[in-house]
Amino acid sequence: MKITRITVYRQDLPLEHPYWLSGGRLKFDVLDATFVRLDTDAGLVGWGEGTPWGHTYVPAHGPGLRAGIDTMAPFVLGHDPRRVLDVERAMDLALPGHLYAKAPIDMACWDIAGQAAGLPIADLMGGGSRRPKPIASSVGARSADETRVVMDRYRARGYRAHSVKIGGDVERDIARIRDTEANRRPGEIVLYDVNRGWSRQQALRVMRATEDLQVMFEQPGETLDDIAAIRAKHAAPVSVDEALVTLQDATRIARDGLAEVFGIKLNRVGGLTRAARMRDVALAHGIDMFVMATGGSVLADAEALHLAATLPDSACQAVWACQDMITVDIAGGRGPRNVDGHLHLSETSGLGVHPDADALGAPVAMYESPAS
Ligand code: MG
Repeated sequence: MKITRITVYRQDLPLEHPYWLSGGRLKFDVLDATFVRLDTDAGLVGWGEGTPWGHTYVPAHGPGLRAGIDTMAPFVLGHDPRRVLDVERAMDLALPGHLYAKAPIDMACWDIAGQAAGLPIADLMGGGSRRPKPIASSVGARSADETRVVMDRYRARGYRAHSVKIGGDVERDIARIRDTEANRRPGEIVLYDVNRGWSRQQALRVMRATEDLQVMFEQPGETLDDIAAIRAKHAAPVSVDEALVTLQDATRIARDGLAEVFGIKLNRVGGLTRAARMRDVALAHGIDMFVMATGGSVLADAEALHLAATLPDSACQAVWACQDMITVDIAGGRGPRNVDGHLHLSETSGLGVHPDADALGAPVAMYESPAS
């Protein structure tokens, strides 16, 4: 089987509510999504998605993603999409780094491989837990009052896991954590996500002031060096998210004991193939995981759910449904959707959900192998 055509679509995904990132990063209200369709000479079609969470979150840029695909496409055409490692090496040769541009092609290859095998991607990867996965909210509010309003909005949709975005102001962060914990309901998972928004002294002040609450923080500094520097000076469990990009990051975090949890976002780490290696490093070191899209539609959520299903249930903290935060649906209600705060794995082979034929409009680029 050979990849004969790569077709690229661009789509704005407006957010239902404008989003504030921690640490004074820019507010944004729309996601720049790229969808990739791979056609094969066997008639199988695979879909991938790459949707950065704005362009101020991590080094990932919608137009840059499409430029990366433009560079890599000639080197991907002609490969057998079921040989995901061959495709990965072809992309690495054509364009070192730029993992976020590679993720949608990797995703579409796994989609085709699953269809060819007659298996959901999770099963093909050797996992396949059918236990519904709790969806974590993303609470980008600023004050304690706003936080309560947003969390209640998610609770009304069945959510029992929450990622509360903090960072940037020590006193306000302490107040929000104390207020949120006072209103926390039995059985809820709450993660306080700093999104790199603290300096080292800010991190230590908040983490020590809330030590009695035994809460968990995500990405409490800009870099792994920052997280390592404060590691011995606080008692809180830590999740590393944005600073977990490469397999080398994962092995350093595991070896040096920098975190108890990995936040694996598929687009950031380069897709399922690379994320699966991080999963194995985590499991070998007693590290639990949040597994999720970096952003995007139900396609991106479905990809993350497949990886989450390959984890032991006890190691999977939560997934995400970014689809609940956007106002357009490119798949007409199909694919994994929020059911009482959980996502359920589909029994359909491959990714299990494709865009509607007319949802994406005209392609912005198309690449074909000379022979086709
Ligand atoms: Mg995070």
